[in-house]
Amino acid sequence: MLRVVIIKPSKYGMTGYVDRFRRGFMPNSTIPYIRSMTPAAIEGERIETYAIDEYVQTDLGYLDLLRNPSSPTLLAVVGVQSHQFQRSLDLAAFARANGVRHCVIGGPHPMTCDTSLLHNRGVSFAMAEAEMLWLPILRDAIRGELRPVYGRNQRWAQELQAPVLVPPSARDLRRYVVPMLGIYPARGCPFTCNFCSVIKIAGRQIRSQAIDVTMESLRKARAAGVRLVMFTSDNFNKYSEAPDLLEQMIAEKIRIPFFVQCDTQIALQEDFVSLLAKAGCFEMFVGVESFKRQTLLAAHKAQNHPSAYGEIVKLCRKYGIVSHFSNILGFPDDTAAGIREHLDVLRGLNPDAASFYILTPIPGTQQYDEFLAAGWITEQNLDRYDATTTTWRHPNLSSAELEDALFRCYRKFYTAGHILGTAFWTDLPKIRRSFRPKQLCSDFIPYIGHPIFTRFAAAKKMHPMSGGVSRVQVDSWSDYRELRRHRFGLDLVPLPKSLELSQADAELNRRAKIAI
Ligand code: SF4
Repeated sequence: MLRVVIIKPSKYGMTGYVDRFRRGFMPNSTIPYIRSMTPAAIEGERIETYAIDEYVQTDLGYLDLLRNPSSPTLLAVVGVQSHQFQRSLDLAAFARANGVRHCVIGGPHPMTCDTSLLHNRGVSFAMAEAEMLWLPILRDAIRGELRPVYGRNQRWAQELQAPVLVPPSARDLRRYVVPMLGIYPARGCPFTCNFCSVIKIAGRQIRSQAIDVTMESLRKARAAGVRLVMFTSDNFNKYSEAPDLLEQMIAEKIRIPFFVQCDTQIALQEDFVSLLAKAGCFEMFVGVESFKRQTLLAAHKAQNHPSAYGEIVKLCRKYGIVSHFSNILGFPDDTAAGIREHLDVLRGLNPDAASFYILTPIPGTQQYDEFLAAGWITEQNLDRYDATTTTWRHPNLSSAELEDALFRCYRKFYTAGHILGTAFWTDLPKIRRSFRPKQLCSDFIPYIGHPIFTRFAAAKKMHPMSGGVSRVQVDSWSDYRELRRHRFGLDLVPLPKSLELSQADAELNRRAKIAI
């Protein structure tokens, strides 16, 4: 028998402790996908699977799965972003030191950044989408030997062959503020924003899974008690089969409230917004980033026209969907006065929710390469590349000014008047009628609970989007330092170089039908 332990790592927060929460806000999408791709047996060998989201583990009991295992064990640390990379190395080093023979680390960081410094040290790296690699990795683990690297020549497949999702257990669902599941009906984005890692991870061709697969995942999720679905595709309005999916959800009365991300061109798609609402969309997240056209052009986000942002708020309000605008502070031409002006304009438009992030050159992106070449990057610790703190020398703003601006924006946006106003227009009686009485509490969370928590977190200078409520400190960076030194010969992973696209991936991008 092979035991497979799938872990989505958390990150070392600013204090060096692992960020963990009693209740999570956002479910991780990668874990259910990998779990669902894991068969019960391969070539007659039974496989036993455990899936762990570290963000919502409030004790270290799950590490027992990696201690002196009695059966051959594979640790897969999945969905690893740059700010989680050092934590993933520590988990692998811990597992190896405790008798786990097979460890593999996959996700955005190993896909887009050069990890060769860490190769051939008893931990493997997966550099492509899981659908292309997971079965070969499982087979190699059963045969007794993993390769050092998987997927070097191609990051993404031409066709998306994703599985029907096995929903999390009731116990795991209880770890989140509302029982939630992330579903990824389509991947890829046609745009070229220079700060974005999505296009380096999933490419410019939008690839979608079969609608039947998404529908079956939704049915299973509903039966398992899931009460909110996050469609984590980056631009749901660019997914050409989205209307068919929504129509099927309506016809079948799926009735699970869901969240989508759309690009700003949704302003011109009223029929689509109406369809989203009929199918149960409760919130639309839109990356507006900046209100200055010049800033957007410099970031290669030419598809955003600030003059259209107001229309998005109007459309969402008309159809009863919460509008959530995501904003980036600290573009190279930003100033203190410019950020104040940004906040004034945003408050004038009055979307129901807003998130703010500090511009962060994410390793693997075009912007990272440019900032690195210009010598602007100051932060050497990858743990800090989570868009909540400063990592580079801004020409007009000090780190303190930017971090103050971040929390000031949250405080000034989420006033008591704003929170009550949003609760009023969302027409709670209508929401209550739409869904089952037993889920009343979960219906309230997105409309009132989250804004109140956001206001509270910002007052405490905690980033509200950092993962959940009620932080718990259990272990820290220093607990794993010796293991990391022993396994990888280093304390801090040096800032990596970005990986070039392979010929196959570049060709797929070139042939993408760019629907802009
Ligand atoms: S539109 Fe969004 S997902 Fe697409 S490249 Fe820009 S930031 Fe990334």
